[in-house]
Amino acid sequence: MSKLRDIFGTKVFNDSAMRERLPKVTYNRLKATLEKGQSLDPEVAEVVASAMKDWAIEQGATHFTHWFQPMTGITAEKHDSFINPTPDGRVIMEFSGKELIKGEPDASSFPSGGLRDTYEARGYTAWDCTSPAFVKDDSLCIPTAFMSYKGVALDKKTPLLRSMQALSIQALRILKIFDNTTATRVVTTVGPEQEYFLIDKELYEKRKDLIFTGRTLFGAPAPKGQELEDHYFGSIKDRIGAYMKELDTELWKLGISAKTRHNEVAPAQHELAPIFNTTNIATDHNQLVMEIMKKVALKHGLVCLLHEKPFAGINGSGKHNNWSMATDDGMNLLEPGITPHENAQFLVFLSAIIKAVDIFAPILRFSAANPGNDHRLGANEAPPAIISIYLGDLLTDILESLSNGKEVFCPSGECIEIGVTTLPSLPKDTSDRNRTSPFAFTGNKFEFRMVPSSASISGPNLVLNTIVAQILDEFATRLENAPDRNEAVKLLVKETYQNHKRVIFNGNNYSEDWINEAAKRGLPNLSSMVEACASIIAPDTIECFEKQHVFAKEELHSRYEIHLETYAKTINIEALTMLDMLKKQIIPACVSYISEYASMINEVKKTGLGIDITGYEKYFTELISETSTLKTLTTSLEAALKEASAVKGAYAHAAAYKDLVFGKMATLRETADKLEMIIPQRLWPFPTYAELLFKI
Ligand code: ADP
Ligand code: MG
Repeated sequence: MSKLRDIFGTKVFNDSAMRERLPKVTYNRLKATLEKGQSLDPEVAEVVASAMKDWAIEQGATHFTHWFQPMTGITAEKHDSFINPTPDGRVIMEFSGKELIKGEPDASSFPSGGLRDTYEARGYTAWDCTSPAFVKDDSLCIPTAFMSYKGVALDKKTPLLRSMQALSIQALRILKIFDNTTATRVVTTVGPEQEYFLIDKELYEKRKDLIFTGRTLFGAPAPKGQELEDHYFGSIKDRIGAYMKELDTELWKLGISAKTRHNEVAPAQHELAPIFNTTNIATDHNQLVMEIMKKVALKHGLVCLLHEKPFAGINGSGKHNNWSMATDDGMNLLEPGITPHENAQFLVFLSAIIKAVDIFAPILRFSAANPGNDHRLGANEAPPAIISIYLGDLLTDILESLSNGKEVFCPSGECIEIGVTTLPSLPKDTSDRNRTSPFAFTGNKFEFRMVPSSASISGPNLVLNTIVAQILDEFATRLENAPDRNEAVKLLVKETYQNHKRVIFNGNNYSEDWINEAAKRGLPNLSSMVEACASIIAPDTIECFEKQHVFAKEELHSRYEIHLETYAKTINIEALTMLDMLKKQIIPACVSYISEYASMINEVKKTGLGIDITGYEKYFTELISETSTLKTLTTSLEAALKEASAVKGAYAHAAAYKDLVFGKMATLRETADKLEMIIPQRLWPFPTYAELLFKI
């Protein structure tokens, strides 16, 4: 274990590195910037840059890069070397404060959803000093926000930082109402549990679908799936163990506190969870986790699949986003306290979340949408596309009784009254008692369980922060003006529960009954990403995001365009890959087998022995007819693709891909998978599910 302590954070210019290397005044001024959000002095930046460069060079860095998160959802970097030639033909290593604070990547090829036409072509990157710089390979990576010169957000970090600011401002107002004068900032904290698959690299390279789309577009089920439930938490194979060990080491060097690792439900599926961090850092870390998972896999002859549904018929991958709020003096605001006063405050924060999740359900649902997740939500392996909250029976009972004026008692026998009695201690849901809820209270945090495995967690968290800030804003205004605070809090908790209890559901979210019940309750069920996209530009979303200064209207519009476009492009690539595999691999394999089979039948007939081959002929007929169906479906997919690609308008275009292409792909796959079961293994043109999932 001493080894862990020696390597943890060695590649990070963290607080201890700064304290060690910066003059005391500089260090204190930088800390003030970090903690109080003060603006950074150019003089300070100069000193920090120089110390950072010396440190990075000691770590083997020769280059630096502004590391940013454009709307592609992955990270981007452009490397510049530190070297600067001197007149006498040598070089010196230089890095200025200006280079630290601001960069100007050529931004013209990143998606902007039309923002660049309205503004200007160039964007710039600005140092986010709240997330520490680190060395990756031979580069010093400086986490940055990416925006246009007029300050329009072109990335996923800028709005996340804005949303954290919004939440902090509004949460502090509530804390003040409860006489808390020591907290100066409230942060949101996040711990994302990352699921992933590992498969053999040689097999991966034989499948165009995995290479181009990250998922299998064809594949009959293997004789064994996950039905024996023998993989979940099962013992870890040596090869996978070696991978996990190296992965943990690489993450620890980057100061990422990878904590738990285990096998997941599906064969070849695993999970990694870090210790939670502030949302901003947790988001940066999760991007690095995904990148390093893939990189380390290659070193072990493996490929890491982060797609939400790499294989049909077995579970896909998600990312449980554990979320809470905490004060800078370390108080978790979702932890029911030990005094009546703290409990009242907890109930106000809880009520704000209940209301926010109910009225902003569509945009929260959208925040977990990507093309891959359309395969999971509602498919009995992840929550349905209906947003609801799990509170657990005890907390629900308390709210229910408080709201209808009934007396409610603690197990200790005391009658609960807000602000007067202490709440009973709530069970921490460590055992995951309700794994089916999309948004579950787990004792001191909420677990948002819809989040897609491959996506940045910026989206879900910035939405959560913003919608909760909006309701806290409304609550604070109401409570600040109330003559009797205690009475006002009681009424607020009661009213909120009464008006929004439809969003609370503690039962089985996977059941058919819940789907019907949710419809009766009027809860939205946005089953596809395309439908969910409409919420980005809904009037109440715009009003909320503008009021909290997280997105301006045109920034929301740009995201609307980008997400719809991403959807259409993704389905287009999938369909093209499918056609390629059909025409160049599957259909030729079928034809080879048909011809082999035909000669066999002829040969047998030629013997003149009168052998009964009716059974073989029937089988042959089936082979011919399935192959011919496949050909017909291929032609029809081609036509659908052509039709969809011609549709104009962002929404209609994406909807055409969903309605015309997506369904056709599923039908086509069914026939191809049937043929896979008929055709001999030696003729099947790529590795099967059995090999991919069990040969590791
Ligand atoms: P489970 O599988 O039961 O959901 P895990 O231990 O795999 O639990 O993951 C729980 C995650 O929740 C961890 O990443 C943990 O750090 C995180 N977490 C714990 N407390 C908080 C908190 N206050 N805020 C945010 N995340 C938290
Ligand atoms: Mg979990």
